[in-house]
Amino acid sequence: MVECNVDDCGEDATFFYTWAWGEEGACCDGHRAHLESKSGQLGREITFTPTGEKTKREYKTPSLQVIAPEVGQLRMQLAALATKNQELEAAIVERDERIGRLTAELRAARHETPPEAPAPSVIEGRPMADTPVERGATPKRR
Ligand SMILES: [Zn+2]
Repeated sequence: MVECNVDDCGEDATFFYTWAWGEEGACCDGHRAHLESKSGQLGREITFTPTGEKTKREYKTPSLQVIAPEVGQLRMQLAALATKNQELEAAIVERDERIGRLTAELRAARHETPPEAPAPSVIEGRPMADTPVERGATPKRR
């Protein structure tokens, strides 16, 4: 049997009650009157359901079943996002290292290239394709 939970009463409850803001409980006949007057004082609605109908138990069970899978899904999404985040952070680190390497290579290449090196094709009036490639590479001739 359900007990009245108003003010630690402990009497057998005859009603389940639900406040307008969702708070639920069980109460005896005496405390139903108490809650009704409290409801009037607060100006907030309270609804009563006789305990004999067992609506509370039937109501609670499906609501838990509805919530649980959603919570499970959200937790899985959270785990997936955390993993994805780790992967992206690793990729960022990798890319930073690559940028560092390429920047160093670029700096070295600029250092090796003589700044006064002209574009021979313009000076000699020949198309770029026929310009001999400098530094070791043998130009391909048709
Ligand atoms: Zn009571």
